[in-house]
Amino acid sequence: MEDVVCNGCSLLCDDVVVEVTDGEVHSLGLCRLGHQHLLSSIESNSPQASTRESGKATEVSIDEALERAAELLLSSERPILYGWSGSTNETITLGLELAKTLGGIIATPANLGMTQALSHTLHSMDLGIDLEYVRNNGELIIYWGSDPTESSHRHPSKFAVLPRGENIPEGIESRTIGVVDVRNTETMKMANHRLIIPPGMDSAILEALVSEISGTSSIASDVAGIGPQELIGLARNIRKADCTVIFYGSGIINSGNADANLSGLQAFIEAVRGIGKQAFALPMAPESNIMGAIKSLSTDASTSSITDIVAGDFDAALVVGDDALVELPGSAAKALAQLPLVYIGPPGITSGKARVSICITDDVITGIGTMNRLDLVEIEFKQWNSQKEERLAEHDVMARLLELIRKEKS
Ligand code: SF4
Repeated sequence: MEDVVCNGCSLLCDDVVVEVTDGEVHSLGLCRLGHQHLLSSIESNSPQASTRESGKATEVSIDEALERAAELLLSSERPILYGWSGSTNETITLGLELAKTLGGIIATPANLGMTQALSHTLHSMDLGIDLEYVRNNGELIIYWGSDPTESSHRHPSKFAVLPRGENIPEGIESRTIGVVDVRNTETMKMANHRLIIPPGMDSAILEALVSEISGTSSIASDVAGIGPQELIGLARNIRKADCTVIFYGSGIINSGNADANLSGLQAFIEAVRGIGKQAFALPMAPESNIMGAIKSLSTDASTSSITDIVAGDFDAALVVGDDALVELPGSAAKALAQLPLVYIGPPGITSGKARVSICITDDVITGIGTMNRLDLVEIEFKQWNSQKEERLAEHDVMARLLELIRKEKS
């Protein structure tokens, strides 16, 4: 069996071993999501390139596709370079160089809310812990608007709920788990506190908890449909715990009240720290290298918001790694689909619509490069020797495209 780093989600599990014999995949350490990701990466591991005119696709060589892609991007006055949340850090660096060379604008799915969340003053509160710290110290864990059973399967079993840690001797028996969401989720099955609230009521719950924790007033009636007993019980456990960690997700960021919710989280952290206990809030996002993309692009001035796509600010697009036409909100996906499109990445809906499409080998198989885990820890891929045949890494394609465009420009 060979060591593999799974990039099926932002946990980037590096404790996985895999063996492929007679077309069958045997693995240890992969969750269901990771196993599916690996299977589809192996199945689609034959580099393909095509061009499309009037809806008719023609298979071409990689060199021809790159020539056509360079031509299309060079004829654009304002291209958008979208994607990168599933690309290695090294590929993102090439993307930034390409954006500069073309005078283009770069954007990622993080622009749908995560980048804004990480710029909130909440994140100036010394929240820099990693998931190992959570495993060793997280006594009270709250998944708030995030559901790891859907997107980051091993988060509870590896870091936040089940494992024993230095100060968590009994594992789950030593932890208290809360889930706050707008619907009943699988994650709630393992929770001691289950709060199902109407959409947009997160800050009201946070405000009530803050007043109860800090002792400024006591909850006397329902808040957002949650009874006082439940809220007082949760606040009591938070007061008792030495270390509380909230993992917040799209329910906080994309509910339309992101700013109020993030300010509510900030007030919560202040209140818990105010009684002498540790408290942290960490974001949850499923895309494998969304944190690497945010980190790499945060200092770049030429980034764009998704609304610019809808506004029709661009005249061509290069999509790398992300199945943008599936992931983007309807209006943005529609606007993007109207543009002359070059796609580089694993096969999907976007590859089937692009004017130039180059389908590459997933990095789980190429095993080259680095990504940043959910907590920003850098993880290096591991080379997988038995899958050396016919590899075409996204990084190699980007490097060749950049070289071609630079040559044309010089
Ligand atoms: S939790 Fe994520 S990274 Fe880990 S094995 Fe599952 S899909 Fe892969």
